[in-house]
Amino acid sequence: MTMSMSSTRIVAFAALLALCGSAISLGASPPDGSDAQPAAMLPARTGILMANMDGNVRAQDDLFGYANGAWLRDVAIPPDRSRYGVDSIMLEQSLVQQRDLLEHAGSAVDGNVRKAGMLYASFMDETRIERSGLTPLVEEIKRITSIRTSADASRILGHFARLGVPTPIDMYVQPDAKNPQHYALWLSQSGLGLPDRDYYTNQDSRFADVRNRYRDHIATLLRMAGEKDVEQQAADVLALETAIAKVQWTVVNRRDPEKTYNPRTLDEIKALAPSIDWDGYFAEAGLRPPWPTMIVRQPDYMKALADLMRTTPLSVWKEYLRFRLLSDSAAYLAHAFVEEDFAFNEGVLHDTPRLSERWKRGCALVDRLMGEASGKLYVERYFPATSKQRIDQLVANLLTAYAESIEHLDWLSPPTRAQALTKLKKIDVRIGYPDRWRDYGELKIASGDLLRNVFRARAFETARQYAKLTGPVDRSEWEMTAPTVDAAYSPSTNSIEFPAGVLQPPLYDPASDDAYNYGSTGATIGHEISHAFDNRGSQYDGDGALRDWWTAEDHERFKAKTAKLIAQFDTYEPVKGFHVNGTLTLPENIADLAGLQIAYKAYLASLHGRESPVIDGFTGAQRFFIGYAQSFLGKRRDALLIAQIKGNPHAPEKDRVNGIAAHLDSFYQAFPVRPTDKMYIPQSERVTLW
Ligand SMILES: [Zn+2]
Repeated sequence: MTMSMSSTRIVAFAALLALCGSAISLGASPPDGSDAQPAAMLPARTGILMANMDGNVRAQDDLFGYANGAWLRDVAIPPDRSRYGVDSIMLEQSLVQQRDLLEHAGSAVDGNVRKAGMLYASFMDETRIERSGLTPLVEEIKRITSIRTSADASRILGHFARLGVPTPIDMYVQPDAKNPQHYALWLSQSGLGLPDRDYYTNQDSRFADVRNRYRDHIATLLRMAGEKDVEQQAADVLALETAIAKVQWTVVNRRDPEKTYNPRTLDEIKALAPSIDWDGYFAEAGLRPPWPTMIVRQPDYMKALADLMRTTPLSVWKEYLRFRLLSDSAAYLAHAFVEEDFAFNEGVLHDTPRLSERWKRGCALVDRLMGEASGKLYVERYFPATSKQRIDQLVANLLTAYAESIEHLDWLSPPTRAQALTKLKKIDVRIGYPDRWRDYGELKIASGDLLRNVFRARAFETARQYAKLTGPVDRSEWEMTAPTVDAAYSPSTNSIEFPAGVLQPPLYDPASDDAYNYGSTGATIGHEISHAFDNRGSQYDGDGALRDWWTAEDHERFKAKTAKLIAQFDTYEPVKGFHVNGTLTLPENIADLAGLQIAYKAYLASLHGRESPVIDGFTGAQRFFIGYAQSFLGKRRDALLIAQIKGNPHAPEKDRVNGIAAHLDSFYQAFPVRPTDKMYIPQSERVTLW
C-alpha cells in the first residue's frame, strides 16, 4: 500500500488501541495462580491489549474493568460520537480505508465502483449543496402542499415508502416466516421521531425535557424551510406523534415472532384499515399485482392508524409529512440543516457534542446506499484469503463443539435434540462477503445532485426489493455490507453472517495466539449460532420456517433455566433510576452465555489435549476470558445508554461481560474466584445451557 494520508491515519488508530500484546503494560499484573515462562519460547502475540488493562482491578471482582479499566479511565468518547469502543475504533479504520478507495474510484474500470465514487463526490461537494438550498426538495414539498383528500395523503405515504422517507407504515420484503422459500411483504408500525413509544408517554422529567426540545427542533426545521406559525405546527406534530406512539406495540411484543405473524389479503387489509387508500398507497410505492403474501405485524396498530387518518385534520397530517420529509433530508441539505438535524438527533438524544467529519458521513452513506460496490473494492484490498481460511476453521470447531454439546444435553428431549442437530447442520455460514455482487446498472447518479441521488438510490433499492417478491428466496443475498463491523444470525434463512469488517484486528487477529481469538471472535460466532436455539430461534426450524419444534417440556425446562438470567439482568442499573430489562435482553444474554460456553469447549478441543502455554504471564484460560472481556471494550453517553435500555435487546457491555462469565465454572478455574469476590455466583445458581 502506498504511504497515503489515510495509511498514516490507520497507524494513529492502531497506536491508540495499543494493538500488539507486547505493548507496555499499565501495571496489569498476572492474576494469582500462574507462573511466567520465558517469552522467547512462545508465540510472540497474545492478542491481548495490555495497555487497556487495569492492574488495580481484580478479574474476580470485575472482569470487564480488569481487562479494559485503563482504557475506560483514560480514553474519552470522541466529541463526534455517542459511544466508543472496539467496534467503533474498527469502524474508524474501515472508514479510512473506504475513503481511500472512494477517492480513487473515479478512474475505476468497474462501472458500479465509478458510480459509488460519484455518489461520494456528490456528498463532498459542499459548495454545490450550499448553493442549491432547498431546491432539491421543492418538488416533494409541492406534493405535500397539494394534498386535498385523505386519499391524496395515502398516496404520499406510498410515494415516501418508495423514497425511503419514514412514515407511520414501514413496508419491507423478507422471507415469509411460515413459508421461507418465498418472500412476503411485511407491514409494520413506524413513523416516530423519538427512539421509542416510551419517550412520548413516560412522565419522568428527563423524557418531558426531551419532548420539549423535540418540539423546538420541529419548529426550527419548519421555520428554516420557510414555514409560518411554526410553534403551533410543532405542537400539532408532537401531538400526532404522541397519538401514534400510544397505539404502537411495546418493544417486547414487537419482537414476538408469532404475535407479529398476521397474513392478510389485500381485501382484509382494506377492511382492517379502511381510512387508508391502499390501492393508491401501493401504486405510489411501486407495487403492482399480482399481490404477494402480505403480513401485518401489528394489525390493531394499522386499524388505530386508519382511525387517526380519519379523525386528525388533514392540515395536521400535512404538517407531520412536511416535517418527516425535512427531518429525513436534512443531512443532505445545506450546512444549517445538517447542524440542526445533528443538534437534536445526536446532541439531545445521544449527548454527542460534535458532528463527525464530512468524509466519514460520506463513506457511511455510500456503504448504506451502494455498499456492494464499495464493499467489493474493500474486500479485494483488505480481506486476504488466509483470513477466510482461518475463520472457516474456527467456525468448524465451534459447530463441532455445538454438535457434541447438543448430543449430551440433559434438558432437551431426545427427539428435540435430533432436530437441533439437523438445524445445526443446515446453518448457512457466510464469511467475509457474498459470492455474487449486486449490480447497480439501472441506478442513475448525477454529479452535484446529492439529495436526489439519495432518493434515486433508495428508490432503486425499493424496486429491487419488490422485484424479489415474484421469485424464490435468494439464499446467497447478504444482509450486511462487507466492511460492516458486526455479525448476525437470521432465523428466516438459518444463516450466520460475518462480514470482512468484523474479522479484523483487534477483535480477530490471524497472527495472534488462539486463546484470545476463541474468547473474542469465537464467542461472537458462538453467540450468533446460539440464536438458532434460543427462545426465538427455537420457534424457527432448520429451513427458516416459523414452526415450534420444541416440546412443551423442553420450553418449560429452558424457561426455568433462563428465568435466573431475567432476574439477574433486571437488577443491573447502568444509569441511576434506569434498570436493564431482563426480559427484553434475554435472547442476547442467552446468546452471550451459550456463545462463551461453546467457544471455551471449542478452544479446549483446539488444544488436542496439550497444555496451553503461559504467555506474558497469562494461562490460556485467562487469555480466553480476557479476550472475551476485551471484545466488549466500550462506553456510551448516558442519554444513549437510556435509549439502549429502552429499546435495544443488548445489555450494556459491562453487564454482558461480568453477568455472563460468572456463570462458567471454567472462569472460576481460570481466576481463582472465592465466595467473597464480587463476581462470585454460587454453583447451584449458575446457568449452564450447552
Ligand atoms: Zn445477538
